Amino acid sequence: MEMPSLPERADILIVGAGAAGLFAATWAGRAAQASGRPVSIVAVDGAKKLGAKILVAGGGRCNVTHWRVTEADYAGSTPPAIRKVLGRFTVDDTVKFFAECGVEFKREDTGKLFPITDSARTVLDALVTAASAAGARLIHPARATAIDACGDGFLVATEAGAIRAPRVILCTGGKSLPKSGSDGTGFAIAASLGHSLTAPIVPALVPLVLPGDHWIRGLSGLTLPAEIVLLSAGGKRLRSFAGSTLCTHTGLSGPSVLDISRHWLVERTRDLAVRLTINWLPGLSADDVERLLLAAPGRGALAVLRERLPERLVRLLCQAADAPPAGDLPREARRRLVQCLAALPLDVVGDRGFTVAEATAGGVPLAEVRLDTMESRIRPGLFFAGEVLDVDGRIGGFNFQWAWASGFVAGSAAAGATGGDCQIS
Ligand SMILES: Cc1cc2nc3c(=O)[nH]c(=O)nc-3n(C[C@H](O)[C@H](O)[C@H](O)COP(=O)(O)OP(=O)(O)OC[C@H]3O[C@@H](n4cnc5c(N)ncnc54)[C@H](O)[C@@H]3O)c2cc1C
Repeated sequence: MEMPSLPERADILIVGAGAAGLFAATWAGRAAQASGRPVSIVAVDGAKKLGAKILVAGGGRCNVTHWRVTEADYAGSTPPAIRKVLGRFTVDDTVKFFAECGVEFKREDTGKLFPITDSARTVLDALVTAASAAGARLIHPARATAIDACGDGFLVATEAGAIRAPRVILCTGGKSLPKSGSDGTGFAIAASLGHSLTAPIVPALVPLVLPGDHWIRGLSGLTLPAEIVLLSAGGKRLRSFAGSTLCTHTGLSGPSVLDISRHWLVERTRDLAVRLTINWLPGLSADDVERLLLAAPGRGALAVLRERLPERLVRLLCQAADAPPAGDLPREARRRLVQCLAALPLDVVGDRGFTVAEATAGGVPLAEVRLDTMESRIRPGLFFAGEVLDVDGRIGGFNFQWAWASGFVAGSAAAGATGGDCQIS
């Protein structure tokens, strides 16, 4: 593969030119232009083609953000820390930025914002154009293999050669979809520079796997609203997500399952006895379901339930509960069926892993970063943005909004902090 040529040094080096890196490059360049100081900005990326993850996002349509974003839409780190960063670059700012780049959004019923073109390419092109117009050089493939502190700055070894910079912004993403270039190298680099990493680091927004012979697998392709509940060993409700739920040939997926997946995976590392249950009739409690079945004595469970659920599912639920689908429903059978409908235990045996996950739970803790600049508290001159940090959002455009906000803060601050004579030994 032909390697691009790298300059010997840059004033600001951005490692990773995904969503956060391109945004950091743009805002570093804009801040430098506004200050009138000459600042050289280089962004290196290991990928042959930039923006693979942006292009696949939202099924190729790129769900750029959500009309309403708060810290409650995220996990990892702490809500006040996340709020502080999000507050620096809001959804309105995102909409304005892209509008100025010629990308208009439409809002779907779910609150997700997509480009009106329905094409992620529009978003990627706008980001690359904005970064270049701001004066950033985008160089790839140039995968960083190590970063060493040297003098007042850093020596970054890449597969295309070494480059020195007094300011480095690490935007290497997490570990999800490793073929896109985000394979966790950034975590190792952050650790080598003295940062800690959360334990655990697990897939987020990932489908969950059920045992090979589980009857839910037989419903592959079925989508319906359901609520997934995470319970402690003692039965305390820890988390729940209601929404579209998809039965797959390996288990369960869809927004409700993807949203709860990281919570289940993280809690499991602390307590193997945490459990997931599914309520196939979200909004109805077990008592409500019982009343529903009692309201039509003699009608039969199938007749009552197929008004609300697909018949295939009702038959399998009756089977799982050992309850007759037609005719009288004896008390014990009704009790079992109510349990299967409102709180069916999900015998989850695993997840589909980072190759399928849309995000990563865990990373560099926000406590190790100055939130007003995203600069490392441990290694001055090193900045962070995006998924490499311990912040992950639920489905809906929240992960990109985090990339935009943290990229904006890191880029603007790195440029603001850079003097014209930033030489390093
Ligand atoms: C299938 C899929 C669909 C998604 N859909 C959405 C969506 O619609 N909306 C949403 O909000 N979020 C979505 N996400 C999540 C979102 O894409 C990420 O949260 C976001 O891209 C993170 O941005 P980032 O810049 O931090 O990391 P990334 O986008 O992962 O970018 C990191 C970049 O760093 C580069 N890199 C990594 N290591 C090195 C290295 N050592 N040297 C040089 N370069 C390196 C990589 O090549 C990559 O270009 C989706 C994710 C996936 C996998």
